Amino acid sequence: MKVAIVGAGVMGLNAALACQARGHQVTLYDQFDPLHTQGSSHGNSRIVRLDYPDPFYLDIMVEGYSLWKKLDQKLGGQIFRESGIFTFGDSHHPDLQTLEQGLINHHLPYQKLTDNQSIFPALHLNNNEIAIHNDRAGWASPDNFRTKATAHLLANGAQRIQEFIPDPASLKATYDKVILTTGSWTKQLLNLPVIVNCQTYAYLQVPNPQDHTKVWIEAQEHGIYGFPPENSTTNKIKFGVHSPGPEVDPANPDRPITQEKLDLLIDFAQRRFGIKSPELINPQSCLYTNTVNTDFLWGELETNVYWASPCSGHGFKFGPWIGERLADFAEEKLLPTAYARFNHNV
Ligand SMILES: Cc1cc2nc3c(=O)[nH]c(=O)nc-3n(C[C@H](O)[C@H](O)[C@H](O)COP(=O)(O)OP(=O)(O)OC[C@H]3O[C@@H](n4cnc5c(N)ncnc54)[C@H](O)[C@@H]3O)c2cc1C
Repeated sequence: MKVAIVGAGVMGLNAALACQARGHQVTLYDQFDPLHTQGSSHGNSRIVRLDYPDPFYLDIMVEGYSLWKKLDQKLGGQIFRESGIFTFGDSHHPDLQTLEQGLINHHLPYQKLTDNQSIFPALHLNNNEIAIHNDRAGWASPDNFRTKATAHLLANGAQRIQEFIPDPASLKATYDKVILTTGSWTKQLLNLPVIVNCQTYAYLQVPNPQDHTKVWIEAQEHGIYGFPPENSTTNKIKFGVHSPGPEVDPANPDRPITQEKLDLLIDFAQRRFGIKSPELINPQSCLYTNTVNTDFLWGELETNVYWASPCSGHGFKFGPWIGERLADFAEEKLLPTAYARFNHNV
């Protein structure tokens, strides 16, 4: 089959890899160059974890997690690093309770800690707090993935065309199947009920980088998260705020950074790492596409035209799994009405 994929972020590239691996001729369209910074899939790190507070997503990641290891091997490494994850907060926080219950239900090993010294000595835990430590987690590099996936696709006969496609369904005239993975631009393209926000993150110099070996998430309303240093020669870590920032139009290249979110990061560095005067380095902002309940959306626009918006700031880790499902749609092995929580007619 000839398959056109519009949108070369993590979803489009994974759909392209899955379609190519199944023997189809792939053409990938994107309005920007392969390493652009206007969408949601750029930078050096995204958390990939198997554990999830919501059992629906946990069930998917039980399948999807190992796909990152396969992808890393297929593309020659430097895509996924398994570090383990440290999720912490008030012992009664519902996310920690459901996360632990999910691990128990799936018979997955984990540690529940009240004293983090042995595992994450740089982080301060309060008396009423716990941490769930799970080895099956780490971080993927969006930029390494985009570089290597694009090279692999092109070396194996795919085409990449840099062009904005205003009416993707019109590609049906040339291709057997069309897949739309247009990220935040899907809102206008398909008139989706989503909000596009800017999310803030920054780097922080830490005094003891060797004590930061885990990805981590603080279970609280702003969902602050972070990473270990990106290589052994740096003393900087990246951390960010998950709660929604200002609403933006993805067509406008300006990505505002809000002081309120920077203040949350400064507060975190003081509270948790004991850094008296934290200096945020290189603050940046990136697009989230949010649904009201943070579920992903996908569907069939018309016969042979499929779309997916795996969004709400937690989609990256599902990229390889979503790519396989989009290839299933194209091969008519699975209907987009599968997975009722994702169903959306446009
Ligand atoms: C700061 C930040 C941190 C995050 N952290 C995590 C994390 O730790 N873990 C996690 O799982 N997820 C995380 N996410 C979410 C995750 O990154 C996104 O869900 C994912 O990248 C979305 O990928 P996408 O391919 O759907 O969209 P994008 O990456 O935005 O790709 C869409 C592409 O479509 C192209 N396009 C759009 N319209 C057209 C058109 N008409 N014609 C041609 N091209 C078009 C765009 O140029 C773009 O390249 C984070 C997101 C941000 C912003």
